[in-house]
Formats: sequence, structure tokens, C-alpha cells
Amino acid sequence: ILSINNLTKKFGYLTAVKNLSFTIKKGNVYGILGPNGSGKSTTLGIVLNVVNKTEGDFHWFDGNTSTHDALKKVGAIIERPNFYPYMTAEQNLKLVCKIKDVPLSKINEKLDVVGLLERKDSKFQTYSLGMKQRLAIASALLNDPEILILDEPTNGLDPQGIHQIRKIIKQIAAKGTTILLASHLLDEVEKVCSHVVVLRKGVKLYSGRVDEMISSHGFFELKSNKETELITLLE
Ligand code: ATP
Ligand code: MG
Repeated sequence: ILSINNLTKKFGYLTAVKNLSFTIKKGNVYGILGPNGSGKSTTLGIVLNVVNKTEGDFHWFDGNTSTHDALKKVGAIIERPNFYPYMTAEQNLKLVCKIKDVPLSKINEKLDVVGLLERKDSKFQTYSLGMKQRLAIASALLNDPEILILDEPTNGLDPQGIHQIRKIIKQIAAKGTTILLASHLLDEVEKVCSHVVVLRKGVKLYSGRVDEMISSHGFFELKSNKETELITLLE
């Protein structure tokens, strides 16, 4: 679905992403794992065309599709969702349908996926943070994307909210949508992802299957540092 080749991004003297290469294949759940400032969001921003790359390349799908056209088949949440507080969930999604030129019939289907069908007539401002994030996921799914991209999807949520979001991500993946998510939590990647790209200071330390990483030498050292400084093992 996506191939990234020797991608580099510099902000002035700072190299946020350095010579990064990896490939995303259909049907898997990929994590980009790394501590704060490791280049996760920058990488997502580049492939979503909101950040300009400095060097290297990326190709969506067969490589013959322009990024502009490819992104019509991508769903993404890379910042806090922007919905109208005084409008209901359903009214907010109707607006998104108009913008994306998607039939209104998708609204109920996607609200059901994220477990918000019963709350569709509630105003957005009455939603909990977790419900807001679930609505954002429903919104990103309206165009039936082939891949869903999420930047830190459980950040700031309470344990129940985290659990719900992770469950929903797994359900979406089980129905065949490829997922790419960024996280600084090893725990999240372990629970949700089949594959992982580990970044540190913009440099790839590992990419491959999560189960193989877990069974690899030195993983316990990694686990003991898992919240942020996950990297000891991989140095
Ligand atoms: P976090 O876990 O905090 O979200 P991240 O892995 O997403 O971190 P990035 O946001 O990609 O990291 O940032 C990588 C590096 O690039 C950081 O050092 C950051 O300060 C820097 N950076 C990101 N965006 C900009 C920008 N617009 N201008 C200058 N520096 C930037
Ligand atoms: Mg980030």
C-alpha cells in the first residue's frame, strides 16, 4: 500500500527523520514506535502531504497513482478532531460526507463500527474524550479507506477509553482495513499491531513483526523501559 525509501526530513539543522525506509502491505496493523521527538508524526505528515520531505521518496499503492489521488483512499487522524460542539455527532458527520462527497448512508454504518450509533443525536460537546476520538475514527472511515492512519490514537484517554479505542482498531483491521498508527507506548504496539517500525531520533532501529521483536534478544530490557525510553535493547 505504501513504500517509503530513504526518506529524510530536516528542520533547519535538526534531522527529524533520517534515511527511513519501510513498506506497508495490505491487511496488517503497523505501528511506528518511538519516544517523543523520534519523528513519528513527521513521517506520517510527509506521506499525508502535509509536511514536505527533504530527501528520499514514498509511493502510494502501485506507484502510478499521484499522492493527491491516493489520499482519497486513505483515512487519517493526525490532530485533535475538529467538530462543531453544538451540533450532534450525526450532523457533524453529514458535513464531512458533503465535503468528502460520500453518501449519507455511510454515517450509521460507521457510527456502528465505533459504538456510537445510540449517541448519534447527542451534541458533540457532551461527548467524553474517548467518544470524541471514536467519532473522529468514524469520520475517517466514511470514505471506506484502504488504510487508516492514526497518530497516538489513545493519548490522553482513561483506561476504559484506551481499551475501547484499541478494540475498535482491531475490529476495523479484522474487516480488512490496513492500519498505520504512531505510538510512544510499547504496550500499545504489543496489544494492537502485527508489525512495527521502531524509531529513535529519526533513525530506524527495527522493523518487522512485533512477535519476532518480542522474542528477540534483550527484549526484557526493552520491556522494563517500555513507557518512553524503549530503546536500550535496540542500541
Ligand atoms: P511525539 O511523541 O512528541 O509526538 P514524534 O515522534 O511525533 O514525537 P515529531 O513530531 O515527528 O516527533 O518531531 C521530530 C523532531 O522534529 C522533534 O525534534 C521536533 O521538535 C522536530 N519538529 C517537528 N516539527 C517541526 C517543525 N514544524 N519545525 C521544527 N522542528 C520540528
Ligand atoms: Mg507525534
